[in-house]
Amino acid sequence: MKRRELLGLLGGAGLGWSALSGSALAASPANEAGRQRVVIVGGAWAGLSAARELRLRAPELDVLVIDREPVLRALPLSTPWLVDRTPERMPGLDRSVLAAQLGYRFVAADVQRIDRAQRSIVTAQDGTYAYDWLLVATGVSYDYSAWFGADTQAAQAAQALYPAGFVASELDLLKARLQTFTGGNLLINVPASPNRCPPAPYERAMLLAWWLKSRHIKGKVTVLDAGGGMPRFTRLFGERYPDHIDFQPHTAIRAVDPFARTVSTDDGDVHFDHAMLLPPMRASAVVEQAGLLGQDAQGKPTRWAGVDPLRLRALQDERVYLAGDLLDTVSPLFGHYPKTAHMATRLGVAAAQQIAARSRNGASATEPPLNLPHSVCHVWLDADPAEQLRIETQYRLRGDGLITQAVSQHDNPQPRGEDLQWGLGLVADALGAKPGS
Ligand SMILES: Cc1cc2nc3c(=O)[nH]c(=O)nc-3n(C[C@H](O)[C@H](O)[C@H](O)COP(=O)(O)OP(=O)(O)OC[C@H]3O[C@@H](n4cnc5c(N)ncnc54)[C@H](O)[C@@H]3O)c2cc1C
Repeated sequence: MKRRELLGLLGGAGLGWSALSGSALAASPANEAGRQRVVIVGGAWAGLSAARELRLRAPELDVLVIDREPVLRALPLSTPWLVDRTPERMPGLDRSVLAAQLGYRFVAADVQRIDRAQRSIVTAQDGTYAYDWLLVATGVSYDYSAWFGADTQAAQAAQALYPAGFVASELDLLKARLQTFTGGNLLINVPASPNRCPPAPYERAMLLAWWLKSRHIKGKVTVLDAGGGMPRFTRLFGERYPDHIDFQPHTAIRAVDPFARTVSTDDGDVHFDHAMLLPPMRASAVVEQAGLLGQDAQGKPTRWAGVDPLRLRALQDERVYLAGDLLDTVSPLFGHYPKTAHMATRLGVAAAQQIAARSRNGASATEPPLNLPHSVCHVWLDADPAEQLRIETQYRLRGDGLITQAVSQHDNPQPRGEDLQWGLGLVADALGAKPGS
């Protein structure tokens, strides 16, 4: 079948998206002899941006993306949808369709193991894939062991009954469970940082409070925050929703009983009627299995993937690159990059550029200087009338080689769809898809 015919067939098959055209996008016959193989584990914001960049920059490479989910759901812009303030504005993106359109391969499979010695990936369903270059972009996972130890039954109950919705596969369950709340104490928590999308829990608290108030549901949102909160939000909690938000800073959850509906803190137990329980976060299990965790100052493994921040290479393996939320600290001046989709796309593109250069110039060649990323985040400060905040972070290399960070916040008291424009722009510019056909 010719590429044009294939695209014609695929045109109606996606979930409301189609690939942007581009003359540099080339078809990628699978495993063509002599081509260097790039495997990307994790096909979301970081992984799909890298795949597209590799197609544009290095069409000679054979690029394979592996993700356990066939469809990409967007966490950005999900909070107003959760409380029915807007429809779901970022439709799901069918990874197979996008891959076929852009000219890389996609396999829906759960990666069980990365064998760095053999340079191969082992999946649960589909066997083994060899690579010359590997990009790991598996995002974050929850560390339920921090609350439940080895009690997997309690951990599973907590996730099924009180999902946090900080991984995309939980979004529908999260919304369905929220509809069961008829009143009382709705508990949300913020674990110790670093966390995915730092403002997201506070945005949720504001919009959930609006949801309770506007629906005359007798209840309140209790926010247990292991840290001190974000001043821009915590001031508004008291000003706008004093009867609907109970904010408790410096209150970490130590243990959870999902059956009795209580959480334990250093100040005592808190009962809840419904909850969005967000456990501490870490890089996904496969990062640890592959021996890719970073180390702290005492030489102990951290919860995140250890990275050379100026190359995006794994510390332990020059054939392995890393991008997205899984990264460990990148600078002693500020620690982690913010774990946002925007940042993940910039890191995915930058890692792809490094791989493209090394694959061309030989494995012993050094990478080109890294394009430092930036991040933009749109969050809702209130629901009706809508108010938003844009948070921007920029990075610069200091003379001594350390990365510095500058953060700025911009109020948007009369938003006119800037968040949607940003989200659709990100999908188009970084992932190579546009809505419609
Ligand atoms: C409520 C909320 C709101 C947010 N709003 C914004 C926002 O407004 N702007 C913004 O920029 N960011 C926002 N974010 C953050 C953003 O969603 C994340 O930063 C982003 O998803 C990170 O992208 P990633 O590619 O690194 O990881 P992920 O999106 O987590 O992707 C990782 C992928 O790897 C796959 N995977 C993991 N392990 C395996 C395995 N073993 N085998 C196969 N596949 C695997 C997963 O299925 C997943 O698709 C928000 C997050 C939340 C929770």
